[in-house]
Order: sequence, then C-alpha cells, then structure tokens
Amino acid sequence: MDIIYMDNNATTKVAPEVLESMLPYLREWYGNASSMHSFGGSVGREIAAAREKVATLINADPGEIIFTSCGTESDSTAINAAIRSNPGKKHIITTRVEHPAIKNLYEYLAKNGYRVTWVPVDKEGVLDLDYLKGNISEDTAIVSVMWANNESGVVFPIDEIARTLRDQGIVFHSDAVQAVGKIPVDVKKTGLDMMSISGHKIHAPKGIGVLYVKKGTKFSPFMIGGHQERNRRGGTENVASIIGLGRASELAISHLEEIDTRVRALRDRLETGLLQKIPNALLNGKKDSRLPNTTNISFEYVEGEAILLMMDQLGICASSGSACTSGSLEPSHVLRAMGVPFTAAHGSIRFSLSTYNTVKEVDFVIENLPPIIERLRKMSPFWKEGACRLQ
Ligand code: PLP
Repeated sequence: MDIIYMDNNATTKVAPEVLESMLPYLREWYGNASSMHSFGGSVGREIAAAREKVATLINADPGEIIFTSCGTESDSTAINAAIRSNPGKKHIITTRVEHPAIKNLYEYLAKNGYRVTWVPVDKEGVLDLDYLKGNISEDTAIVSVMWANNESGVVFPIDEIARTLRDQGIVFHSDAVQAVGKIPVDVKKTGLDMMSISGHKIHAPKGIGVLYVKKGTKFSPFMIGGHQERNRRGGTENVASIIGLGRASELAISHLEEIDTRVRALRDRLETGLLQKIPNALLNGKKDSRLPNTTNISFEYVEGEAILLMMDQLGICASSGSACTSGSLEPSHVLRAMGVPFTAAHGSIRFSLSTYNTVKEVDFVIENLPPIIERLRKMSPFWKEGACRLQ
C-alpha cells in the first residue's frame, strides 16, 4: 500500500538531497569540530558553511544562528534567556494557541512567580492584536507569539507586533517552526529579537533546531557546557544534522514559490473538494491568511481519532490536532480557543501538504474520505441527516 503523507506540520520526509549531504559526515568525516587537527578543522568549516545557508534562509547574519537540538529547545532557550536577562520583570505576554513547547513552559512560569497574559484569538483563529497591545506594561519581560499556528495554519501579524514593541526594552520572540520554509521569513525586515526553527519541519532530520538571536540581544545559555556555538549552547555539534539543515535551507529557499503556487492549489483543491462533498463540514482558520499547505476541517458528529484510523487503513496520514496532543481525547486547546463547538472540535482533521504531494493523492482523499465520514455518522447516536450547519 502506498502512503499518502499529508501530515507535514507534524514532521516531514528527509529530502534525498539532504540525506546525501549528511552521509559523508556519518561515514568519513567524523572528526570533532573543536579538535586541533585539520581532520576536525575541516568539519568546523562545513558547519560554518551550513550556518551561512541557514542564515540566508531567514536573512540573518551567520553569527546570529545558534544550533540546538529541536524547536522545543530553541523556545525554552529564548524564554529562559529573556527572563534571566530581565530579573526585575515578572510579566509575560503570549497567545492562547501556542504549541505545547511554549504553552507548558509559560504555565509552569505562571505557577512560579510570573504573571502571564494569554492573548485570545477569534473564531477564525485571528489574533486579538488590540488585546496584546493593551496589556504591554513596564513589567513585561517577553512577548512570545508564534509566526503561524501549527493546527489552523493561521499566520499572525509578526511585523506589526515587532513594530509595536520596538524600543520598549521588551524581548520579542517568535516560534516560527511552522512558518519557515512555507512562507518568506525575513528577520531583518521584521526586526524581532529571537526566533525558533525546527529542522524536521523543513525536510531535515529530527534532532536539529535553530535559535536566531539578534545581534546585541541580551542572552544567557540554557545548555551550559563547552564553548560550542560561541558559548551560547554547550555540547558537541550534531554535525551531520547541521550539514543536512544547511542543505534543507537551500532547498527551502528554492521551493518557496512552488509552495505558494502548486502546493497552495493542491491544498485548495483538497479543501474545496471535501467541503463540497461532505455535509456539516466546517473550515477552521481564516481562509485568506493561512499557511499555503495547511487545512483544518471539522466533521460534525464524528471522532477525529476514528477518521484517522479509517484513513490509516487506506494509507492516508493526517492528524487530529498537533502531534503532541493526539493520544489524548481532549479537543485541542487551539480549537477550543477558537470557540469551535464541542461536536465539531472532536471531529477535526488537519491535512498539511508538501512539495512531495500530487493531484492524484489529493483526488484519492477527496474520493475516499466522504464514505468514511458517512459510515462513521451512521454509527453516531447524535447524527441526524440534514442537521443544522454550524454557525
Ligand atoms: N513549535 C511549533 C509551532 C511546532 O509545531 C512544533 C512541533 O510540532 C514545535 C514548536 C516543536 O518542535 P520540535 O519538535 O522540533 O521540538
């Protein structure tokens, strides 16, 4: 059975070009970049080249790139650095729809002496910018707003928030794990202080991430250890993955246009096809301000998990919320924050596409999902043919 992979916001396939670039560093070039010998030194030069490629992807200077182990580590490092560099400030602003990598850390800080403002979103997942602006105070240490939401795909107004915060002495961090590689991200143009990236969302392997730290931003390391990453993140470098991320960054730049055109058209075809064929289906997320690869649809009166299992039997991979929250039957905190009714939030499915998807795959899903929903609804005690559409 062929796999139809439409779960690219959870993780992506390692691109063959990326794998090729990594293999020499797992086979022959195993030296330690910190060693005095030239065998290790040449590895150090390749790390520097990869750093430049990653910097180019987001228009940063190479010195502003810190390699980490994942997006979660980048988020934790940014937040810890911001609060440690501003010990007198005890207020944090974030959103109600952050990934658990941010949400759970702020919930922990809220129990440990910090006041956290959770900025709401509306029913289309759009951020309440006035609420954010109205809560900025002299006590605010950090504002963390994700660039794009992993579940709804809604893109947040990062440029405007950066403009609002400029010269206020508040650290502005964005979790751009879902945005980078899917839409243009330019840190110089935007002017934010710190930003997180994850390799496995852009066709590099798992276990490599990046924290962008703007030159001049006060910083203290989270991983205290060796002198690696200019004393900003201790630990021997994950050389092969860093090289792979460099190659993935080059590919990401060259694929941005295709994602904006061909992948967007595939996503739209999938979305329109499903919404037309399946009654009581509701799009979650503002239609015209989303990532071009993501669609999140609620099917009323069915369980997302049941849909996933039945799609799985046909080789279709999608998600019912973020990968980290599936496994729990609670509706996702993102859909709850958007006010999606309980009957619909439970039956929500996220499809997230990549350049590897085809029209044939999309049409297969459009053909095979409606009978799955119909079968499941027939088993549901709550489903009534012709039930009211959701508001
Ligand atoms: N932030 C967002 C928005 C994500 O979607 C994810 C992963 O799903 C992460 C952070 C965590 O990244 P990682 O898996 O590299 O730790």
